[in-house]
Amino acid sequence: MTDQPIQNCGKCGLCLSVCPVYQVLKQEQASPRARLQLIKAFEKKDLSASPLLKDLVSQCLMCGACKVACPSGINHYAKFMEMREQLAKAQPDPPAIRSLVYLLAKEYRLRMGAGLARIGRRLTPAALEKKYKIGNIPVSRFPEMNRRPLRSTLPRVSPAKDTAGGYSRGNPRGRVVYFTGCATNYMFAETGQATVNILTRLGYEVVIPDGQTCCGIPMMFHGARDQAVENMAVNLTAIQEAMRENGGDTTENARGTAAENCDAMDKACDEAAKNCDAVIVDCTTCGAALKDEYPALMNTNADSRHATLTQKIAPDMPETIAGKTRDILSFLHDHIDDLAAAMKQDTSKHKVIYHAPCHSRNSFNSMAKVLDLLKALPCFDYIPVPDAAACCGGGGTFFYEYPDISQKMMAKKLANARAAGADYWLTDCPVCRINLHGSLSGQDSLKVVHPVTLISKGLGE
Ligand code: SF4
Ligand code: SF4
Repeated sequence: MTDQPIQNCGKCGLCLSVCPVYQVLKQEQASPRARLQLIKAFEKKDLSASPLLKDLVSQCLMCGACKVACPSGINHYAKFMEMREQLAKAQPDPPAIRSLVYLLAKEYRLRMGAGLARIGRRLTPAALEKKYKIGNIPVSRFPEMNRRPLRSTLPRVSPAKDTAGGYSRGNPRGRVVYFTGCATNYMFAETGQATVNILTRLGYEVVIPDGQTCCGIPMMFHGARDQAVENMAVNLTAIQEAMRENGGDTTENARGTAAENCDAMDKACDEAAKNCDAVIVDCTTCGAALKDEYPALMNTNADSRHATLTQKIAPDMPETIAGKTRDILSFLHDHIDDLAAAMKQDTSKHKVIYHAPCHSRNSFNSMAKVLDLLKALPCFDYIPVPDAAACCGGGGTFFYEYPDISQKMMAKKLANARAAGADYWLTDCPVCRINLHGSLSGQDSLKVVHPVTLISKGLGE
């Protein structure tokens, strides 16, 4: 269904039952339905861009559940994003949020910021780390930055490993492009290493695009659409280049003609698509950017700046990349039998519970596939928990901006997680990971990791 206007809201209330914020606050003004009515009033100029309006619109995790539930086909997500942009102009975000957006906007700033954060952690006394909190999370419970950014430790092209099915470096099963995102690159290197280990072990050649940067979702959430367009252009160009390569050989000819006319660019786009089985993400928020946001963003702001930024991108490329984007766990689900067969017979079984991030559920619909993996693979002893699909309250910077609401969302999850008696709490979103780990205490033995970490270990990697 194409996106329907706000006026089509029949006020049925179905979105209230899925909205994590409404479920905690139980106030109509905190519901998706009310937010739409506020936006409608603002568009009719019945409401001004006041601090209260900004607060009511921002009190949302951008989880996308309301869009999925709405029978009237309203794209809340897109409307909220537009509204945030308007409100950010009139009511700037607090300095901490603006600083974060500034940092994420350029790769060199991110690299520098990550390095300084690592040094800062080393120099901060443990007592202070425990005392100071970001939202509800003590600084001591935040992950350490990687010693080196992941991408600087991995080859640009990782060849396929020899497999039982006969695939090898010279005869790969296929070729995938891996978009690492910034959290894996700077914070969770072991997730990226495990992702490459598993994919090459399945017989895929893995290409990591040069020059990629933050997906831009944090900018979109905070109304900085122009900045998001810049990040989109950087990433689409980087992924396009990686898709066009064949086994590490750059196709300079294709790139030369690409700049000359649209037909040649489309042809190059088709060639690139044949050359790449999937664009893999290990974070479904990055995945949502590639799959849902970039094609839409490409079609907006068609001014001269936008044209300059996107001139190297073939017209069909955003849709092509969107169509190829797969979250790693759904992609592994396609290979469930191969993975089970390749696992070492004596692999350790780990008791695990799962937390399904909002973007995994609402953008990739991947939860059932993840549970299949957790039940089928010998490295897992899966323990169901009642609220695996409930939002944890992380939501980008939501845990920092609305710590009280976030804590209420987490309370029941935490009690259920502790009661399950598992060794690992698995999740496939970096912010959920920070939020789950940050909500546990030093007394908890439960470890929070991405599922690929245990799959890679189970394969003996
Ligand atoms: S589910 Fe859709 S139609 Fe129903 S109240 Fe919410 S926004 Fe309106
Ligand atoms: S995006 Fe999520 S948190 Fe925001 S209104 Fe919709 S359901 Fe509620």
